[in-house]
Amino acid sequence: METQNDPHRPTVPQNDADIVVVGAGLAAAILALRLAALSVPPRILLLEASDTPFGDKTWSFQRTDVAPGVEAWLDHAIAAEWPTQTVRFADLRREIATGYASITSASIARAVAATGHITVRSGARATRLTPTEVVLDGGARIAARCVIDARGHAPGAAMRTAYQKFVGLRVRLAAPHGIAAPVIMDASVPQIDGFRFVYLLPFSTRDIMIEDTRYADGAALDVDAIEAAIHAYAAAHGWTVEAILQRETGVLPVVLGFDRHAFWAGASDVPKIGMRGAFFHSTTGYSLPDAVRVADLVADAWPIGSAALADLLHDHARRRAPRQAFYRFLNRMLFHGAAPENRHLVMQKFYRLPRPTIERFYAGRTSVFDILRILSGRPPIPIHRALRCIPERAPRGPGPEQPEAIQ
Ligand SMILES: Cc1cc2nc3c(=O)[nH]c(=O)nc-3n(C[C@H](O)[C@H](O)[C@H](O)COP(=O)(O)OP(=O)(O)OC[C@H]3O[C@@H](n4cnc5c(N)ncnc54)[C@H](O)[C@@H]3O)c2cc1C
Repeated sequence: METQNDPHRPTVPQNDADIVVVGAGLAAAILALRLAALSVPPRILLLEASDTPFGDKTWSFQRTDVAPGVEAWLDHAIAAEWPTQTVRFADLRREIATGYASITSASIARAVAATGHITVRSGARATRLTPTEVVLDGGARIAARCVIDARGHAPGAAMRTAYQKFVGLRVRLAAPHGIAAPVIMDASVPQIDGFRFVYLLPFSTRDIMIEDTRYADGAALDVDAIEAAIHAYAAAHGWTVEAILQRETGVLPVVLGFDRHAFWAGASDVPKIGMRGAFFHSTTGYSLPDAVRVADLVADAWPIGSAALADLLHDHARRRAPRQAFYRFLNRMLFHGAAPENRHLVMQKFYRLPRPTIERFYAGRTSVFDILRILSGRPPIPIHRALRCIPERAPRGPGPEQPEAIQ
């Protein structure tokens, strides 16, 4: 048995940090950067199971996803930024004057280190989380006034999903590619495995991320086949790949049904952020805008203990639920209303909408007026199939979300 006087006890819990975040991924980094910018920053400890805190990813966002004011603490983490973006479909090419920015694992790690207030411990796998303590693999204990769970997405019975899956190659080309702004969707490519598009991030004249994405029913990712498709895309554009600088793969949830009550029913007093807390956009699977909002919420409430923060986040989840319910309805239209080869038509119709409606959609701030706009006009799918997508079959539990008003 372990006692306070046991000499073999690995560490004595005496608030090693003010806040411990388990899982050094995107949500943890964003929260830590936000708290480190407070006038009296807390002692922040990030615990990461792997040897590579923040992984090896590129996280992008629309500039309008985040409220003005984040520049003071988030901009240090940005690796590249562009004033516009474009989309390409079979019958639509559009340049959109919405800024786009990318954060890389390396750029966020640098920003975290530069604060001087954040300690990152890698190779630290948590096996038990309580509101005041984290137990690590091997038995070490770390105490804090606030413990947060940011261990990433955990698929569960409360969520029914399809997938946004992709392989990305950041490559150096032999000659300039000629792409000035990010291509958020080039859906003029042959449609395979559901809705397919290529995503381009031009980091410099010859350094470009080429990502082949599919909105598919199944999670299986044939990395070799998709890499071959990326090389074919490059060749078709006359690009010669000189070197592969980075590879990334992702299989993100596109939520078709969610029982929020079941999801939160078994929740403990340990607050969950990021994908762990289902704080991501139901259609894009992206979590950066939500991570910024949650970071603001925590910073405004700081200092706060675990249990009070868990309540605050639960309340936040309730407030964002109506919009997410609408996005899930759109997902069902995309996946169940349209035949796989016609899914691109749904997205093409979406991209004809006014820019502010598109911006609010990505930001997760769709208004009632936007909903009317999105649903108006001739639907790209048969009306009887669209109507069948309205009811939300709850994955488990008493029934679909109770309707709540979008303000
Ligand atoms: C390749 C890729 C690209 C993406 N691009 C974008 C994008 O452009 N924009 C966007 O908004 N979203 C993007 N996403 C989606 C989503 O935002 C990311 O998955 C994001 O990283 C989620 O952040 P998170 O902090 O919730 O989880 P993660 O970033 O996955 O972090 C969770 C961390 O917890 C660690 N961990 C797990 N268990 C333990 C444990 N027991 N103890 C300690 N540590 C543990 C993991 O090792 C991991 O480092 C992308 C996802 C992928 C996979």
